[in-house]
Amino acid sequence: MSDTLSLDLVVTRKPHRCWGCVETFPKGTKMWRHVGKSDGVLFSTYACEPCQAEMNEACRRDPYLADEGFDQGCVRDWRAEAERQVGGGT
Ligand SMILES: [Zn+2]
Repeated sequence: MSDTLSLDLVVTRKPHRCWGCVETFPKGTKMWRHVGKSDGVLFSTYACEPCQAEMNEACRRDPYLADEGFDQGCVRDWRAEAERQVGGGT
């Protein structure tokens, strides 16, 4: 169980890896910084704008997800899954 303390759109001052797609973005990129607390320990993660939008959308579809939090690489996995569905079926 984790709590969100803040979610801010920031311009990064050093390279950060996106939580959703696991790509590393150079400094000077606009990214969402999520600060949270899990079992009393503060942590912060970064997400690029497209990933944050996808995670927000996923929360709207399934509020349970917002409580659980997202696994690292979740957006990359969703995209891979979507591509499999588009590519298959013939
Ligand atoms: Zn991303």
